[in-house]
Amino acid sequence: MRLEDLDLRELLQFEPTGGILRFAGQRAVLLDAVALGLLRQQLIETLGLAGARAVLTRFGYALGRRTAETLRDAFPWDSEDDWRRAGGRFHRLQGLVLFEPVRHERPVANAPFAEALWHESFEAEQHLLHVGRSEEPVCWTLCGFASGYLSYGHGRAIYCLEERCRGKGDATCVMVGRPQEEWGAEAARQLSYYEKDCLDEALSRVTQALKSTERTLRAKRRELAQTEGGDDTKAILGRSPAMQRVRDLAERVAQVDSTILITGESGVGKEVLARFIHEHSARAAGPFVAINCGAVPESLLESELFGHARGSFTGATQDRIGLFEAAQGGTLFLDELGEVPVSMQVKILRALQEREIRRVGESRNRPVDVRVLAATNRDLAADIQTGRFRQDLYYRLRVVELRIPPLRERRDDILVLARQFLARSASRLRRKVSGLTPEAANLLLRYHWPGNVRELENTLERAVVLTRGSSIEPQDLPDELRGAAVSPVYTPGNLRSLEEVEREYILAVLEAVGGNKLKAAETLKIGTSTLFRKLKQYQGASGA
Ligand SMILES: [Zn+2]
Repeated sequence: MRLEDLDLRELLQFEPTGGILRFAGQRAVLLDAVALGLLRQQLIETLGLAGARAVLTRFGYALGRRTAETLRDAFPWDSEDDWRRAGGRFHRLQGLVLFEPVRHERPVANAPFAEALWHESFEAEQHLLHVGRSEEPVCWTLCGFASGYLSYGHGRAIYCLEERCRGKGDATCVMVGRPQEEWGAEAARQLSYYEKDCLDEALSRVTQALKSTERTLRAKRRELAQTEGGDDTKAILGRSPAMQRVRDLAERVAQVDSTILITGESGVGKEVLARFIHEHSARAAGPFVAINCGAVPESLLESELFGHARGSFTGATQDRIGLFEAAQGGTLFLDELGEVPVSMQVKILRALQEREIRRVGESRNRPVDVRVLAATNRDLAADIQTGRFRQDLYYRLRVVELRIPPLRERRDDILVLARQFLARSASRLRRKVSGLTPEAANLLLRYHWPGNVRELENTLERAVVLTRGSSIEPQDLPDELRGAAVSPVYTPGNLRSLEEVEREYILAVLEAVGGNKLKAAETLKIGTSTLFRKLKQYQGASGA
């Protein structure tokens, strides 16, 4: 089959049921030219002129290459040349342009590999319509298409550029194609659009810009929430005098860029406090990145924190940045730092001191500008004694230490927080639950909350799910809460001796302070020796 034998119209097939359109046997889609024009306009707005040009050039290139591939297999061509020359005609059929090859009567010096006039270029038309007249040629998709087709057809890189273009005011577009090496240095900038790197750069620029816009938006939203008095983070920290002190201190240290160690039992809200510090710091517009060090297997922690180079270990199929780099310009929150093995502690200390990190499998250091907040529920001072935690890292971290008291030591916060969690769960679960019955509130107040704020939050969420009414009732709360609140009812049948009551009370206090005898004695306002004596007595009495 020769090129001239081909009736282009026969190449287009419609499935009788519709929905599928085929071009030379391959599925194709019809796209409206104006919609493509709008796409171009939006690409220019988001990626800039160079980024949009790179995207459309490479899109055209892929289209041209695909067309060449499809055509080669679709017909029994008489010669390779017929197939190669068919590209222009397809260009035309696809409605992109009216293609007219230029043939020279006599040989011309330095004649291009390919040359054609493009009449009625849809691209020039759309560019003029949506963007206006340009300084440079604008038929980027068409040039890409011609380059993709020719490069595939000849098995070498052949790039097409426009010498003239209607988009910049010429009467018609003139396309010239040459092998890559025949283009002079002055074409280098235009040819760069064919390179993937050019696109990568544009895309990464856009990603950065988007990220920073997002951050600004977030900061604005936060400001707005604060002026409306709805500062969520602030409220979730609690309003008791103990928490007000923590919050005031946090607000002050947020301004200084030092490392902070947040301590407290598990579930007290250390991450919430870390986020609060981040949001009140000069880094608020930067990222806040959190990691629970205790949840990451030891073998992965280093690459998680510092990143890795491709091939540095099995499974490292590509370069990957770590959390230190991800938090660049912002805050990195290392939760459960006490769980980190000593070997990693050295590396974290180095990163803090040198302000640079090294990805696993790389030999060069990369600077990082990150503020580190660390948290632990362990007694690090005790861990230093046993060699489980490095003293130098401890002192480096503990420039400022913020201790969040357990919930049972700040009972004023229980109902405040409970009502917030209730409102939040109700809105998320779309349930009309508006409050707590007095009995339920009483149970919440009496419980000792070993799991702290997290347990309170889970309790309220569960209650919102379970309740049948519009208020949380005692039966919506877990057994352990109800068990804790069997209030003594005095009837002649159950009267007990003072000794029994005292014993019960002392043991309850001891449990409430987590078994800490010094603290229990302090709470009971009795001497420690008295407490020890009494406890010994009870042990004897119970036969233990
Ligand atoms: Zn043009």
